[in-house]
This record gives sequence, structure tokens and C-alpha cells, in this order.
Amino acid sequence: MKLSHLSIKQAKKGLKEKQFSSVDLLNSCFEEIKKRNTNLNVFLTLSEKEATEQAKKADKLIANRQDLPLLGIPIALKDLFSTKGIRTTAASKVLDDYIPPYDATVVKKLKNAGAVIVGKANCDAWAHGSSGENSDFGPTKNPWNEAYIPGGSSSGSAVSVTAGMALAATGTDTGGSIRLPASFTNTVGIKPTYGRVSRYGIIAMASSLDSIGHFTKTVEDSASLLNVTAGKDELDATTPPVEVLDYAKDLNKGVKGLKIGIPKEYFIEGLDKKIKEEIEKAIKFYEKEGAQIIDISLPNTEYAIATYYIIQPAEVSSNLARYDGIRFGNARETFGDEAKRRIMLGTFTLSVGYYDAYYKKAMRVRTLIKQDFDNAFEKVDAIIAPVSPTMPWKLGEKVNDPLKMYLSDVFAAPINLAGIPGLSVPIGFIDGLPVGMQILGPHFSESLLFRIGQHYEINHNWHERNPYGL
Ligand code: GLN
Repeated sequence: MKLSHLSIKQAKKGLKEKQFSSVDLLNSCFEEIKKRNTNLNVFLTLSEKEATEQAKKADKLIANRQDLPLLGIPIALKDLFSTKGIRTTAASKVLDDYIPPYDATVVKKLKNAGAVIVGKANCDAWAHGSSGENSDFGPTKNPWNEAYIPGGSSSGSAVSVTAGMALAATGTDTGGSIRLPASFTNTVGIKPTYGRVSRYGIIAMASSLDSIGHFTKTVEDSASLLNVTAGKDELDATTPPVEVLDYAKDLNKGVKGLKIGIPKEYFIEGLDKKIKEEIEKAIKFYEKEGAQIIDISLPNTEYAIATYYIIQPAEVSSNLARYDGIRFGNARETFGDEAKRRIMLGTFTLSVGYYDAYYKKAMRVRTLIKQDFDNAFEKVDAIIAPVSPTMPWKLGEKVNDPLKMYLSDVFAAPINLAGIPGLSVPIGFIDGLPVGMQILGPHFSESLLFRIGQHYEINHNWHERNPYGL
């Protein structure tokens, strides 16, 4: 297998056994980047020089028998993560030439764990979108079929992993932006519990919904990456002092005796029949493996998108107010259409006279949505659901229909409103394009989600496929 398509676990083994060096691993990623980046549009900025230095340093440490969790592993960052001295644009022309003076906490943690930062991945501008097409720098293509979108907003991050340009990538998920692209690219995507990973230094979209997570090839890699990034951060008051246990500790415990809930509101008309069939196969598999399958109801699901599209733009309008062209960045007319749409919507719902009718009401419904999950988790340990009602769509298909685009998050956004964790794992291919399912659990139940996801993965091995057969 080509080095850049290895999992983190495989790469660590190879590095330790001196089969190859971190510089070899990095060069393998750069080979793929040079071959395909112009066409796929995955990276907005490459940090080849810095990465090479980091890889050389890692090789020295490895030679001295040092071990760090991500020593010598090439990782891509969504271009929302502030990187000291490296351009960070949020895929918006507003920040076209912005160079942050500091690293986000997650970036610092990754570097301290020995990771090699390959570059900054394309995304929807300010993370607004489900397809990657809102990037001011052009869309990223889906390498499984280049006529299709790879899912957004963390489009470049997901593609960097499936296309073998990095072994893992970071993303943000405010209403599906990790799980959707993971599902559309045959990668594993973790959206951790709200507050589990520090948001410090990550360009904010909607602060009460933003979760920081990862894309990897395998569930085990996802757990080991979260081991590095999770935890309390003095610089982010929303990170609680909940202990970070080893997320990989329960990976191989199987699913016997677990109660898995199937929410009827997620299997409604509008869900692609073929996706439904694939999820049903997964449910049967878990049943056969000894899990108890229980039908549940999350009755307020139908209000989630309306609620999300009031709360989220309200917070967006507040967060984007700082980009006034005075302190840093270009003037406000540089904002793209989608950002302008959200600023206007948010300003409207927060105005006197409309605040009570929209924002306050949405906050109440948000509580009901959260209570739906609380009630469900009294009966079941975890929930299985589709990530998206449809398969990846063609580039351009929904760009002129924002409502249609918003509806692609109907199964993803409720999870952010409730603040619970969600793991998207590959469950196969439909007409040549990948599809995933999401596994949901109570707050801070990431270990359980990894355990359930791992059991599926090791019995199906979809992760072994990459679009180039490398
Ligand atoms: N697609 C959703 C939106 O545009 C979610 C975006 C995200 O999770 N960053 O709001």
C-alpha cells in the first residue's frame, strides 16, 4: 500500500520498525498532493517547508527511541484552525492574507504530540455549507467521482484523508460538517461532545454549536487522535474538567448486550431508499452480534432544522461582526453571499420585536430537542441513524437553492443542538459513492461510540478502499 494511505496505527508501526521515515511518509503525501491538488482543490495553503522540518525532527526523536502519540504523522488542518505564521483564511476572501500570531489549542496539542502539519484544507467559507461549494476559493471535488461534492463544510479535510494527502485531518462540526463529508468520502468522522475539545483559536461559526473533531481512515485512529486533542483548556471556558479516559480502551469489547435505539423520525419519507437499506443491513449486523435493537422516538426532530437556522445565524451574525476591516481582514463587502445571508438572518432574529418571537422560542425548542435525547438515553445506550437523507449530489446541483442545501443537515443538526457526540463510520458504497451511518450517544460517551463503530469496521473493512486503489 502507498505510504500516504496507511492508517496512523500502521504508520506508527512502520516508523518504529524503521521500514520508512517520517520524511518518506510526508513525501508520499506530497506526491499525492502534487498529482491531484490542482484538480481536486483540497489545500488552500501548503506548509511544505515547516512540515519537512517537523518530519526531520520526528525522525531524530524516533532514532533516539522517543515515543509520542502522533510522532511523525502527517495531518491536515481545516483552514479554520489558527496556525502561527501560516495563512489561515476560513476559506473566505475576507481573510485572504491573514497570518495568525498564535496556534489554536488543538494545533498546539497536535504539534506537542509530534504531528507533522501538511497544510490548510479548503472548506465552505466560515464553515457555512454542506457541500464545500461556498468556499471563496472554489469547491473541492469528491475523488470517488469528481462530478460530485465531497460534503461540507470540512470538504478539504475529508478529501485529504481519503485521497491519501494526509493520514488524518481536523474539522469542525456545527450542524454536520464533519459527519456529512466523512459519510460522503469513506472516512471516519468524530464530532465529540460539545466542549470536549477546545475551541480556542478556531475561527468561530456558531459558538454554542461548534464542535472540534477529526477525520481518519479507521475508528481506532479516531480514538487515538481524540486522546490527544480532548480535555479541559483554561483558554476555553466551555471545556469542562471531565477526565479524558483512553478512548481506545473499550474498542474490542464487541456489542453483546448493548441496547441500540433506532429513531423512527430518522427513517422518514425523503430518506434515500438505498441508504435506508444499507443502514438496515448494519442494524441487522448488530442484532446478530448480540445487541438489542429498540425502536425509539425523538418527537421534536421535525423542528430541528428550523431551530438550527435561527440559533446558528444569530450566533454567526455576532461572531462575524468582528471582521470589520479595521482590526484585520478585508472590508465587509468582501463577504460571500452565504455569509451575508446568515448575517442578515441572524441580525433580524436578534432585533427588538423579533427576538422573543424567533430567537427565544428557538432556544426553548432546543431544550425540547435535547430532552428527546435525554429521554431516549434512559432506554438505550446508543442510537444508530443515517447521516444524510441523500447521497452526495452533483457539483452545482443545490447552489442556487439554499433551502434544499439546509435540508441535507436534517439528521445532523439535532445532534449539535443537543451537544451530544456523533461518530460517522463507512457502511458501504451505492453506485460507486460512499455512504456512512452515525452512531450517537449521551454526553461524553465517545468511548462507547468508538466501540460500536469499531465492531462494524473490523467485520466489514470498508476503510481498506481508497478511490485510487493505492
Ligand atoms: N451545513 C450546516 C450549515 O451550513 C452545518 C455547517 C457546519 O457544521 N459547519 O450551517
